[in-house]
Amino acid sequence: MHFHKKGRLPCKRNNYICFILPEFVNKRIVENGSDEQKRRAWQNLIATEQLRGRRNIVGGLYTMFPTSDRLYRSIFNAENEENLPGKLVRGEGATRKGGASVDEAYDYSGNTYEFFDKIFDRRSIDNKGMRLDSTVHYGENYNNAFWNGNQMVYGDGDGEMFNRFTISLDVIGHELAHGITQYEAALEYNGQSGALNESFSDVLGSLVKQSVLKQNADKADWLIGAGLFKKKVNGAALRSMKEPGSAYDDPVIGKDPQPGHMKDYVDTTSDNGGVHINSGIPNRAFYLTAIELGGKAWEKAGMIWYVTLRDRLRENSTFNDAAELTNSVAGNLFGKGSPEQKAVANGWAGVGLQIKSAKGKTRRRV
Ligand SMILES: [Zn+2]
Repeated sequence: MHFHKKGRLPCKRNNYICFILPEFVNKRIVENGSDEQKRRAWQNLIATEQLRGRRNIVGGLYTMFPTSDRLYRSIFNAENEENLPGKLVRGEGATRKGGASVDEAYDYSGNTYEFFDKIFDRRSIDNKGMRLDSTVHYGENYNNAFWNGNQMVYGDGDGEMFNRFTISLDVIGHELAHGITQYEAALEYNGQSGALNESFSDVLGSLVKQSVLKQNADKADWLIGAGLFKKKVNGAALRSMKEPGSAYDDPVIGKDPQPGHMKDYVDTTSDNGGVHINSGIPNRAFYLTAIELGGKAWEKAGMIWYVTLRDRLRENSTFNDAAELTNSVAGNLFGKGSPEQKAVANGWAGVGLQIKSAKGKTRRRV
């Protein structure tokens, strides 16, 4: 009775609950079963994880079944409660059912996957084919959407001020991009690094929308969350990358607080140190860069920003770091002194951040 030493049952160790059907059985079913069997096995695994109080490990579990080079979406319904992920209502390739939120979460996460796959040769959030999980109908009249470290979550909105949060393609792109940031630069969600985290999500979310609409930079709206507000709100969207601070001005929800220049930088402890506020500054730097370069924003400016996020930025990077590193990446990708590199320097200069390495020092980082 080796296991029972110290009076502990083996099953109680690590707070595991002993289930009659072992986890690996469901894992096999997921790998090998028919669609319906896979679906049930997934629900089982998820229920198990929830019972263990290890909700957060579900994402880790999913990555144990990478679909490698294939898009694999799962849409869950929280049925207006706050348990994640909720009930699986649509898996990859399943027929449309369950209403607008389910369809939008499915279609738009697919658009986002395709964008990263085609444009940046990236396979999903972790670049290893991680499943894209979304939960809709989260909470009651819930006015938000979030990435919880494993999946996307969308509220229905209150129906009075806000529509459902799946309504904007760029919002879904934004949430998924948080996942990518988590796997790459892992920018700490506070202060300037947090504002960069927000900004890269806005940049990539907007680019997903622009690519689906096949828009040139000068034709894009550069808005984040257009369509989220109901008619009674005086506002076009949550944020404007083109003119930060101009997205809304409403008696109930107030005025868009975003600055678009370092001289208006907001020092605050609220909003994790202004992550959704000061993100207007790097957002506008990207916009200015993309407009100077013209054409499709994802081809040059977007590539520079993405490679910087993937390879160069770190947890505590600042706005200055982002300026220097995008400038350096532009030099590597398009050549030193190239129009692309100049556009990047001009973009940051336009928001009050001068590239230091552009004058004099040209030490090349490998
Ligand atoms: Zn965000």
